[in-house]
Amino acid sequence: MLLAAVRALLKPRCQSRLTLACLIAPHPSRLCSSNSNSNSPKSSTWRQLNRIPTPACIHPDTPEAQTPTETSTSTIFPPEIEALYRGNQRFRDAIAASATPDVLKDLASQGQRPPFLLLDCSDSRVGEQVIFSAEPGTLFTTGNVANQFHEHDLNSKAVLAYAVDVLKVKHVIVMGHYGCGGVAAATLPVPESEVNNLGPVQDWIAPIRGIYDTSERPEIVRHRETHKIKVELESKEQWAKEVAAPPQPHLHDPAFRALVEENVKANVQRIARSAVISNHYADLATRPEHEREGVFIHGWVYDIETGEVADLGVTVGPPGQKLPVTPFPTHHT
Ligand SMILES: [Zn+2]
Repeated sequence: MLLAAVRALLKPRCQSRLTLACLIAPHPSRLCSSNSNSNSPKSSTWRQLNRIPTPACIHPDTPEAQTPTETSTSTIFPPEIEALYRGNQRFRDAIAASATPDVLKDLASQGQRPPFLLLDCSDSRVGEQVIFSAEPGTLFTTGNVANQFHEHDLNSKAVLAYAVDVLKVKHVIVMGHYGCGGVAAATLPVPESEVNNLGPVQDWIAPIRGIYDTSERPEIVRHRETHKIKVELESKEQWAKEVAAPPQPHLHDPAFRALVEENVKANVQRIARSAVISNHYADLATRPEHEREGVFIHGWVYDIETGEVADLGVTVGPPGQKLPVTPFPTHHT
């Protein structure tokens, strides 16, 4: 009964989505292929839209996305939005053609039970579900600039509490990425205009700057010392010029990569020490042994150049429990 009701709800939802598209476009029969006459020249335009071959997703900068598609004599969609629209159509087609065509309906009716909470960066090159080829319902995700967790940040705390206490995830993963702009900014001087009053981005990355200033990783120490000497030797004019347009660290700069990794480790530790995890582990200790399955916290890093995910080998787990091994290559630092 409930399932039938859910299906009934889902069906109109699908139709209403098309109806919305129909409202945007002036010719409903062109967009609503299922309701249209297949011999209609308008419906063939619709089929043509859906036949466009794919990569799994179209980046808005690709030539295809840059070319506005005229779908009627009067309507031209912004190409970047149309690319998303087509991507959504392909996503739905792929689900329908997959081995689990009802996965969305099942998740909608039964609720989610994801085994993972993934905290990563907001960077557009880091797409969690794509990176892991993950099915819907697998990853509970949250992201921000440079994948940070802070106890004083209500968003961070609420996401962690919901994931651990309600969804009962098995693993919390902090995943940084090489080439992270937020981490790069932490290696550069604070812009002169913000020295006395940090803007939101500088304020947010201040903890990473703290890691840069105090880390004992040899790569970071070398970078810090070199930079300090450089600053002292440079003329005031040159310094002012660099602060205005500071040179970004190179993707392969060892210090930059090391700072990405140290930032992940620091956030794993913050999560491990958080009230949510401390309470969770304390609660486990009061339970019978067979009910002590607790959350593990992992630190991973994603290489935006190769697509590879590596395990930094800094997993934290419930006291007394054996840490799980992962098949990902390990970067011990
Ligand atoms: Zn980033």
